[in-house]
Amino acid sequence: MLDYVDLEADLAEEERLIRDTAREFVADRVKPSVGEWFESGEFPEHLIEEMGDLGFYAPNLEGYGSANVSERAYGLLMQELEAGDSGIRSMASVQGALVMYPIHAFGTAAQKDRWLPALGQGDAVGCFGLTEPEHGSDPASMETRAEVDGDGYLLTGTKTWITNAPIADLAIVWARDVSAEGQPVRGFLVETDADGVTVSEIDGKLSMRASSTGEISMDDAYVPPENVLDVTGMKGPLSCLTQARYGIAWGAVGAARDCFETAREYATDREQFDRPIAGFQLQQEKLTEMATQVTTAQLLAHRLADLKERGDLRPQQVSMAKRNNVRMARKQAAVAREILGGNGITTDYSPMRHLANMETVYTYEGTHDIHSLIVGEDLTGLAAFE
Ligand SMILES: Cc1cc2nc3c(=O)[nH]c(=O)nc-3n(C[C@H](O)[C@H](O)[C@H](O)COP(=O)(O)OP(=O)(O)OC[C@H]3O[C@@H](n4cnc5c(N)ncnc54)[C@H](O)[C@@H]3O)c2cc1C
Repeated sequence: MLDYVDLEADLAEEERLIRDTAREFVADRVKPSVGEWFESGEFPEHLIEEMGDLGFYAPNLEGYGSANVSERAYGLLMQELEAGDSGIRSMASVQGALVMYPIHAFGTAAQKDRWLPALGQGDAVGCFGLTEPEHGSDPASMETRAEVDGDGYLLTGTKTWITNAPIADLAIVWARDVSAEGQPVRGFLVETDADGVTVSEIDGKLSMRASSTGEISMDDAYVPPENVLDVTGMKGPLSCLTQARYGIAWGAVGAARDCFETAREYATDREQFDRPIAGFQLQQEKLTEMATQVTTAQLLAHRLADLKERGDLRPQQVSMAKRNNVRMARKQAAVAREILGGNGITTDYSPMRHLANMETVYTYEGTHDIHSLIVGEDLTGLAAFE
């Protein structure tokens, strides 16, 4: 595997172990079948519990059965899972960073006891509902309402493009508390089988096909008081997104590295004009550029891990890394596809699948444009969102 500047040498034992466990899982359980899942448009539900047993859901959290591994170990896990497929990494990212993290950070003791061990083991599946049909890049304009009803709340609204929704037991739903002054955003634990909650699958995706995506409609869905998270305002969902974007910055490197490895192997085997195509200068330039781009993105991810570990990581730094590393993976997947010639457009090889997936990864968790604006504001002090 490409590790051009020997990052391996500085990994701790635990980090190597979790990376190797994930790498082996991807090699044995994902790679042999992922092309078929992608073609049929299905998420491999049979892997959910296995991934839980292997400790792939939020192992960087402390307590409630989580291993409390380093942020680098968590990043390496995301890198290896996405080398398999973005759909597999997305499932683990959502479960860990977008569902377990907010319960861990803002949940009551009872909520943590009830949900964290079950989610960690893969006995329950969670999803995160922020995006709405009319509000994607601007989630603060959300229309989903939560209105006080007795001790609890009635939720009404629609959340769309929700990863895991069709297979989820629990949805973290962000809604405006219209009964409180200023109508702040609050987080609710919504059980997907509750009265008034309807979940439907989104079909017709040409990207992220080995992932389950859906829409959640709530029509006066009652949420009991014990299912309200203790956080108010957009900092609730945004803090979760920072966790997930950190994992994406790592994951994109894994997808790009897999494209590089596939292209290098293909180019050294494939002969045209009586010699391996890897011997032609044009192909070497492409492979050199790919390896350089993967390596520099990897270095950025490792630096984020250091900052996160010591509590100094700023959301804007995560935005820069998500923006850079996903753009890199999207571009390099296209180059790898090119090196594979006609074979490159099939599911027999990974680059075209990664390329298709990167269209989603480029867009979700803040589009490339939105991260440009976040970093732009950080650099200039001037917000350019409107
Ligand atoms: C497969 C998939 C899974 C997803 N999973 C989840 C999930 O689990 N939970 C969840 O809540 N959401 C999820 N999303 C939704 C995702 O986060 C949104 O699609 C994303 O935030 C963009 O919103 P939008 O699609 O409404 O695009 P829009 O916000 O309508 O943007 C359209 C275009 O306009 C650009 N744009 C918008 N505003 C500006 C501006 N101010 N300046 C310049 N350009 C601008 C954007 O960059 C983009 O190119 C998922 C999406 C996909 C495709």
